[in-house]
Amino acid sequence: MARPILLAVDDDVSVLEAVVQDLRRRYGATYRVMRAASGQAALDTLAQLKTRHEPVALLLSDQRMPGMTGVEFLEKSREIYPEARRVLLTAYADTEAAIQAINTARIHYYLNKPWDPPEEKLYPVLTDLLEDWIAGYQPPFEGIRVVGHRWSLKDHEVRTFLSRNHVPYRWLDIAGDESALNLLKDRQLDPAQLPLVIFSDGTFLVDPETDALAAKVGLRLQAAQEFYDMVVVGAGPAGLAAAVYGASEGLRTLVVEPEAPGGQAGSSSRIENYLGFPSGITGADLGRRAHTQASRFGAEFLTQRACGLRIEGQYRFVQLADGREVPSHVVLLAPGVQYRKLTIPGAERLTGRGIYYGAALVEAVACKDEEVYVVGGANSAGQAALHFAKFARKVMMLVRGEGLSATMSKYLIDEIERTSNVVLEPKAQVLEAFGEDRLEGLKLKGPSGERVVPASSLFVFIGAEPGTGWLPSSILRDDKGFLLAGPDLRSQGRLPEGWREAREPFLLESSVPGVFVAGDVRHGSVKRVASAVGEGSIAVQFAHQYLAGF
Ligand SMILES: Cc1cc2nc3c(=O)[nH]c(=O)nc-3n(C[C@H](O)[C@H](O)[C@H](O)COP(=O)(O)OP(=O)(O)OC[C@H]3O[C@@H](n4cnc5c(N)ncnc54)[C@H](O)[C@@H]3O)c2cc1C
Repeated sequence: MARPILLAVDDDVSVLEAVVQDLRRRYGATYRVMRAASGQAALDTLAQLKTRHEPVALLLSDQRMPGMTGVEFLEKSREIYPEARRVLLTAYADTEAAIQAINTARIHYYLNKPWDPPEEKLYPVLTDLLEDWIAGYQPPFEGIRVVGHRWSLKDHEVRTFLSRNHVPYRWLDIAGDESALNLLKDRQLDPAQLPLVIFSDGTFLVDPETDALAAKVGLRLQAAQEFYDMVVVGAGPAGLAAAVYGASEGLRTLVVEPEAPGGQAGSSSRIENYLGFPSGITGADLGRRAHTQASRFGAEFLTQRACGLRIEGQYRFVQLADGREVPSHVVLLAPGVQYRKLTIPGAERLTGRGIYYGAALVEAVACKDEEVYVVGGANSAGQAALHFAKFARKVMMLVRGEGLSATMSKYLIDEIERTSNVVLEPKAQVLEAFGEDRLEGLKLKGPSGERVVPASSLFVFIGAEPGTGWLPSSILRDDKGFLLAGPDLRSQGRLPEGWREAREPFLLESSVPGVFVAGDVRHGSVKRVASAVGEGSIAVQFAHQYLAGF
């Protein structure tokens, strides 16, 4: 693979030389360091690199340059290399402009000059950004290939699984790709057997089950130890935070999660309001970082779904979908919530075949130059609409209410207003979905009456509900299925009948001692990444107190 490029831009020759030297010293072995003396020269270089399909990982530009400022250059560069990380070098006096540029030019970071010593002020930031870039980069292909059909549910599931687990793959759509047909013929398969997953060693799986795929790409399905201090169910922000704190404080910690770490946040294109990330962070990056962090402290991850919980004396057994059980003293339930489904005619049949729930990242590229529909008026719908706007010709946002102000954060509303190919349709709802093998049309109802429109993609973000039906009845929940914990267990001043302990339940402890609850699944929780992270961390403190009583 060609070495990815780092491009430094500055009109001051001596500063440019210093930047280039510093970049070469740290990154020269893995990246090619290039330079340009003006914004225009840098844009010309990028255009040439693009025609040669060369990967560009990072643009580092000075702000004050004649002709074109750094912000202007970085903004224009997005049209050529939208995925490259954009960093602005500024004098201290330009800090305000740099903060504004986070919104306008979507820069990823700004650095104040001088950046000495680079080991402290330059490399940590750039290394971080380059790791993010690598995580999303799909190199020209030698790895896994998925041959499928865009409108097949199974194909969608396989791609979602690989993407969410950060396994790079190349997708070949049988409908428009001669080479995809050849790959089938070479293996004497026919299109009815799709999807086909071909691995770099030449082996392949036909219409694979998740377990088989997980095993093949090296994900762990069986627990390594016989007993754990704490088993965490769910690797969203709450579960991941518990894993980081638990493992770092010496608890033998196992996390059970059927999907890639990150939870709902993982399906979010960009979280902009999480503390410490001024230019936002994708949910997938947050999940990947937290997973690395927890693993570094020794937490173990299993790609499995929990489907039961058995209590026996002081032991808790989390039952897994493959029939195995993992024993522990403490269980932390952090399974979050799942997307609420549309209940209109046609929706169930066409799910995964044009109707998707929270699939903004996986499906966006497939919608290139199309018109897509997004249903919902909360932040998740807004983020998805903005993400699709980068690929689709037009994004229609269907919102039940009068507008977005009551349901969406202001920074997202502002950005939607600035994005010309996102069109908001208030007081609108979907009545029916049409299509045989794939979504072909929608019946909509708006202020001017009902109409039928052609549509190939509908992305649904209409809220979520807890998936807690698999838990035993001894774990108390409210009438919507959210789990009760701590003071919420008291009803009319009394603890539940089954509570046998002399003490009060700890904050975040469920109706079963030693089983804790954190994040969106908890009754009364604040549905935010930061709150889930906070609860996951706090729950570990109570787990320690519980274990101290043994
Ligand atoms: C599209 C979108 C955008 C969002 N944007 C923002 C934002 O910008 N800022 C913000 O603060 N919040 C945002 N949120 C809300 C935020 O993502 C949630 O509040 C947060 O993820 C909750 O974390 P959690 O760990 O409680 O649950 P989740 O993130 O829901 O994670 C739960 C995990 O548990 C797993 N799981 C479920 N059942 C089981 C089982 N039986 N066995 C094993 N594992 C299981 C799931 O696969 C999932 O990975 C957004 C949400 C969405 C959907």
